[in-house]
Amino acid sequence: HVEPEVVEALRNAVVAAYPRLSHRYYALKAKWLGLERLQVWDRNAPLALQENRIFGWEEARDLVSRAYAGFHPDLAKLAEPFFTQGWIDAAVKEGKAPGAFAHPTVSDVHPYIMLNYLGKPRDVMTLAHELGHGVHQRLAAEQGELLSATPLTLAETASVFGEMLTFRTMLAEAKDQAARKVLLAGKVEDMINTVVRQIAFYDFECKLHAARREGELTPEDIGALWMSVQAQSLGPVFDYMEGYETFWAYIPHFVHSPFYVYAYAFGDGLVNALYAVYAEGAPGFEDKYFDMLKAGGSKHHKDLLAPFGLDASDPAFWDKGLSMIEGFIDELEAMEG
Ligand SMILES: [Zn+2]
Repeated sequence: HVEPEVVEALRNAVVAAYPRLSHRYYALKAKWLGLERLQVWDRNAPLALQENRIFGWEEARDLVSRAYAGFHPDLAKLAEPFFTQGWIDAAVKEGKAPGAFAHPTVSDVHPYIMLNYLGKPRDVMTLAHELGHGVHQRLAAEQGELLSATPLTLAETASVFGEMLTFRTMLAEAKDQAARKVLLAGKVEDMINTVVRQIAFYDFECKLHAARREGELTPEDIGALWMSVQAQSLGPVFDYMEGYETFWAYIPHFVHSPFYVYAYAFGDGLVNALYAVYAEGAPGFEDKYFDMLKAGGSKHHKDLLAPFGLDASDPAFWDKGLSMIEGFIDELEAMEG
């Protein structure tokens, strides 16, 4: 349900933003790591200031509930029974499947959430994420069995939005500048991995398939295409070890789900744009947001986004979300004072 020009608008906006996003962020990261050049394995290296804080279950529940209530009391109310009625299986136990999900049952009964909660900051974000899905599933259930499932384009909206609300709450409550820096850097890295990196993957796929149409490709040809999108997306601070040319092979999607990777950037970019509208204080945003979730799978993304004055085929739409990431990097740069 996504038109080619919408994906093209997303791709063009992200590629144009590489220098303002990844290039700038990785230059900062090199400085934090005390390195002149970065290697590919430094990309996701943890920062030395990172603290290993553990959030107890009650603390996590309180944080996420407050973040949700800060948006609208009804959002927290919709999330509450997950905690009070036993709709979440959170504990880690032997034989339990890994990962996390929210799953509807049938539309006249409530959904369930499965987690493997260990108290790391990331686990709190996973709780916020799955609760977003859970709330969305509860609201969309009114559409009935056939129309309640969300279209793929908006499937991650409530979940990523819920994470953003929780992240903003954590950020507002950070005890000092160092804690704020760790939170911001972590968020920027996640966003670069979802938006910049996945669009670079998408670009590689487009270039590869276009080249193949002209004739057979050698492994060297494929490697050269891979390296060109790496250099362009990661920026001038990176060196590439010998053998990195073959690393395209570590992305299963290229073989098993061709032309899927853009969807990760699409979901994140869409929520960032939506959050930017909310942060600008758009009148009536909360009601429109609830209406969007209640619509479930009954409407196309164009109709769901129109009430917010948003249109995904407009490159300016994607820029709105990218500016938010840029704003976080501005703040990190300013901390270097
Ligand atoms: Zn999700």
